Amino acid sequence: MDFTIVVAAVFSLYVIIYLIDKFLKERNHTGTVLALLLIIPSVILLAVTATTSLVNASQGTILKEDQVVLQPVLPGVNLPQSHLTHYFATIFICTVFHELGHAIAAIKEQVPLIGVGLLVFFIIPAAFVELPSSVTSLPPWRKLKIYSAGIWHNIVLTAVALIILYFLPVFALPIFKTGGGISIYSFNEYTTGGSHDFQLGDILTRLDQCHISSTEDWNHCLSKAFQQSPLGFCSAQSFLSEFQPADNESLCCPEDESNLCFKTNGQNYYCLKARRVTEASSGRCDYQEDCPDNSSCLSLASNDSSRLVRIERINAEPVLYLGHYSQLKRSLSISNYVARIRFFSPGLMQFIQELLSYIASFSAGFAVLNVIPCVAMDGQHIVSAVIELLPGNPTSLTKQRLTRYSIYGGTGLVFINVIIGLYNLL
Ligand SMILES: [Zn+2]
Repeated sequence: MDFTIVVAAVFSLYVIIYLIDKFLKERNHTGTVLALLLIIPSVILLAVTATTSLVNASQGTILKEDQVVLQPVLPGVNLPQSHLTHYFATIFICTVFHELGHAIAAIKEQVPLIGVGLLVFFIIPAAFVELPSSVTSLPPWRKLKIYSAGIWHNIVLTAVALIILYFLPVFALPIFKTGGGISIYSFNEYTTGGSHDFQLGDILTRLDQCHISSTEDWNHCLSKAFQQSPLGFCSAQSFLSEFQPADNESLCCPEDESNLCFKTNGQNYYCLKARRVTEASSGRCDYQEDCPDNSSCLSLASNDSSRLVRIERINAEPVLYLGHYSQLKRSLSISNYVARIRFFSPGLMQFIQELLSYIASFSAGFAVLNVIPCVAMDGQHIVSAVIELLPGNPTSLTKQRLTRYSIYGGTGLVFINVIIGLYNLL
């Protein structure tokens, strides 16, 4: 690129930043301007979500999960019951921050508050701030400050939640460590005969040959182990010679539930203890050629989708799991956090992590919804004040019409999105 263009671009950028900074500092409108800047992307977001959903509906295609950017959250429908605490806590925190924004801005603008408090809407705890009707007669910039302060507080809350989320492993460092395996903090629906070898607090480090240092690794290793064709175990002939092979599968493990039936490539069947096979194995194999000389590739005789996997733990014997992917995935609640002292449960960090994710996304959703010029939202007052700021008589008929049509448009957009969102859920 030409050197003069680079210099000109840098200089122009510097001038723009300087002017914006000067404007914001002089008028102390930083939060207000940033909240107002959210109007355009929010309208685009809602319009794109509505259009995509309508196009998909008309073509009879199913809405892909990643196409829905903004959608309602209903407990019991798309919110697991175990996350109800997160849900209520998040709504409470988001509304308190939002209303606090309005209250602080109103006090700064010397507007007396009629009421501030907490309420329970249906069963959802929330906060409220009641402003006097005299707010509507304030100059437009002062009105904008008060009405956009809630949105600005939600933007800040989203940013703070994301920053804490990002640095959470650092904050938790004195009590928890990450990157050295994953820990089990609870069991769900574990149904393997009502008993299992996993213990709460177990630190898992490897699934077969796949190394685990995070929950992403766990998901990856699990998918890999269950997607590929079942792998066998390279077993030395000297080990197999200790046992008597059977000619067919039905004669392999008759009435023996503690052993499993394995077969070699030569179609010899052996009734063996899975733990002995895995311990004596020199490696995993797909074919006979994958094993050293004087070894056989021993695989499970059954052809269903169950797999025998070996999960290694720190300071404990490996767990051998025989079963299906979904059962193992659902059975264990796992966390990236490993407690340095066993007294602390990784479940606590999991809760904080999930709560911060909820706060970040709900607070962003609050900001987006509130900035839209919709009836009963802050956006209704914001758009009216913005239009008032435009050149010309503030009470002209054109401005009144523009305000009215903007609110009609915004309300319609929110309404369509809510209807589509609910339709997709129910
Ligand atoms: Zn508000």
